[in-house]
Amino acid sequence: MTSLLLNDATLLDCTGADPRPYVSVLVEDGRVSRIGDAGSIAAPTDAQTVDCAGRTLMPGLTDAHVHFGAVDTGAAEPAEQQSHVSYVLNVADNIRIALDEGFTTVRDAGGLDPAYAVAVATGQIVGPRILPSGSFLTITGGHGDHRSPWTDQAEHSIPGLVAHSEIVDGADEVRRAARTQLRRGATQVKLMVSGGVMSPNDPLESIQFSVPEIRAAVEEAHAFGKYVMAHAHTAASIQNGLEAGVRSFEHGSMLDEEKAKRIAQQDAFMVPTTVILELLLRWEGMPEFSRQKAELVLGQTADSVRMARAAGAKIGSGSDLLGPRQRRRGAEIVTKAKLLGAMDAILSATHVNAELFRMEDRIGTVEIGKDADLILVDGQPLDDVGVLVDARNFPLVVRGGVVVKDAL
Ligand SMILES: [Zn+2]
Repeated sequence: MTSLLLNDATLLDCTGADPRPYVSVLVEDGRVSRIGDAGSIAAPTDAQTVDCAGRTLMPGLTDAHVHFGAVDTGAAEPAEQQSHVSYVLNVADNIRIALDEGFTTVRDAGGLDPAYAVAVATGQIVGPRILPSGSFLTITGGHGDHRSPWTDQAEHSIPGLVAHSEIVDGADEVRRAARTQLRRGATQVKLMVSGGVMSPNDPLESIQFSVPEIRAAVEEAHAFGKYVMAHAHTAASIQNGLEAGVRSFEHGSMLDEEKAKRIAQQDAFMVPTTVILELLLRWEGMPEFSRQKAELVLGQTADSVRMARAAGAKIGSGSDLLGPRQRRRGAEIVTKAKLLGAMDAILSATHVNAELFRMEDRIGTVEIGKDADLILVDGQPLDDVGVLVDARNFPLVVRGGVVVKDAL
């Protein structure tokens, strides 16, 4: 592997420190090996040298809640008219776009077969490192059960290709389904424990899965050294999740102060997803049942994020983008910045997510010894966080020390 010398950058290392101008960073064997004043590091003979010309150098962005496989929402033709080939190509598109937009590690929040993570890891698709959940686990009639009331026929997953919801009831079925996802390579198990916006049959306030059912998934995840992430909008569903040992609460849009404190005390994470609500409400094809639920959630999300922050809960960053050609993923950081400020919104999408992924020793900051997942940004994200939205503002993306995008 050739080494890489990045000269004369403004370093935003995402440890929380202020940006530092005139910095050079040396990358050897896929890792950051030296950080010094510009011009102070001699390039090894084999090194590729990049003149950063004062641009911002920062760790690759991360997204804790992607749905690369959810290509049907808002798609031109209904799912049943799409071929498998078309599905795979749409998913691959989403994967490539995320990397082009500066994202070097993402956690899929359900619906993506872990085979896509393998395809990236083996270099068959150039994309961000993917931490897959495989299929969602949902109760009958829950957020992941997309059947019309007039059929009992569920869509079946095709292992290695497509991961549909697993509709499971009772602790034993949950246990088996969790084990199956882990067998296929899930890095965490995803459960739907409250109602959701995009599902037809469940009220938002509905409680999905009992505490013993959730606990069965948590036990199996723990047995494999993994954890459970739970889709949970309401305080009551978060209460059940906390009781059962869930580590990552997705959306959390109707939180209360007591649960916010317990999330902090239990060292759990909150992953609010803010930008998707605005996008969905602008979408003309949004079903009426979803529109009402989205408006309800949107009205309370800002308060919930502020509550979580006041309680000291760790706040990760997830976009929840849906559909084919998922673009402008960084818009989540912009909407989050309105609530947390630019610095904390950026740290949430780097450093905090790294801790959530249990990868804080490898990614999330630019420090000596860390993986060289690095991006070069045209502009100053702390002054104008909006620069993180457009792929054209990322002329260079490096993943694991390898230049995977070079538009300089
Ligand atoms: Zn989601």
